[in-house]
Amino acid sequence: MCTAKFQYKCRLCGEIFNNGITSEENASVILVALIVNTKMPERFIGIQPSLIELHSNCKKGYGVADLVGYIIESAPAERNVTDGEKT
Ligand SMILES: [Zn+2]
Repeated sequence: MCTAKFQYKCRLCGEIFNNGITSEENASVILVALIVNTKMPERFIGIQPSLIELHSNCKKGYGVADLVGYIIESAPAERNVTDGEKT
């Protein structure tokens, strides 16, 4: 199973940082709901990210960061299975 990490980019310093991890399936539902501004499914209430976050570790002060998307990371066990099939 793949995990998805939401990424934000700080408007002030330009740093990209992770804030929030979920499954790939959940991430796509959450991202679309945020973009089209629809009601979040009840199972995500309380855990969903927002379109903007504070960058409290900002090198230039206290920044505002925008949600720029999410990255997919495969679990190590899944990669091992795939590698085993190739050999
Ligand atoms: Zn910053």
